[in-house]
Amino acid sequence: MRLLLVEDEPALRTPLRAGLADAGYAVDEADNGRDALHLGLTEPYDAIVLDLGLPLVDGLTVLRQWREAGRTMPVLILTARDGWHEKVTGIDAGADDYLTKPFHMEELLARVRALIRRSQGLASAVLQHGTVTLDTRSGRVSVQGQPVTLTSHEFRVLAYLMHRPGTVVSRHELTEHLYAQDFDRDSNTIEVFVGRLRRKLPPDTIETVRGLGYRLGAPA
Ligand code: CA
Repeated sequence: MRLLLVEDEPALRTPLRAGLADAGYAVDEADNGRDALHLGLTEPYDAIVLDLGLPLVDGLTVLRQWREAGRTMPVLILTARDGWHEKVTGIDAGADDYLTKPFHMEELLARVRALIRRSQGLASAVLQHGTVTLDTRSGRVSVQGQPVTLTSHEFRVLAYLMHRPGTVVSRHELTEHLYAQDFDRDSNTIEVFVGRLRRKLPPDTIETVRGLGYRLGAPA
């Protein structure tokens, strides 16, 4: 999953980025509203964390412009402590959730997980496919109750597919959602990750749909 983090205060942005990256997300950053607006219009984020008080273009304007352009990614806004009016305006402008500063990293992570799964119509934090279980809270994967060790890239591939059961996902789409913008991307490496992942999962968990991409196979 790939996130955009928009926050102009380096003292906040740096630990937030680290916390999100530790949780397994590919993270792009913006420190002003103009860059945020552009990135949100052009890159396919799974969720966006948006501070409202930003240089160049304020966060509410950024959010309104994303929504006017038809961008539907989940957006969580960061608001000031006593800013109840900001929350109302923000939600009316198209925000899906908010957090009041200061907040705990764990709460941000829980809200981001919930936004991502709800955007895919999933209610539970534990995703199940046949005998494969992926706990989005702990990042643990198991097969028939036995833990499976995955690298961070293997985990990202599996998590992306398990958030979209029955959907064919192209290599290009996986590439876009696995890596941050500054990462040197190579869609051939996706094949490598999928190959390694397949050896760790029951046969036919990940099907290749010729010419189109991958999808979770029918559970045995
Ligand atoms: Ca700010």
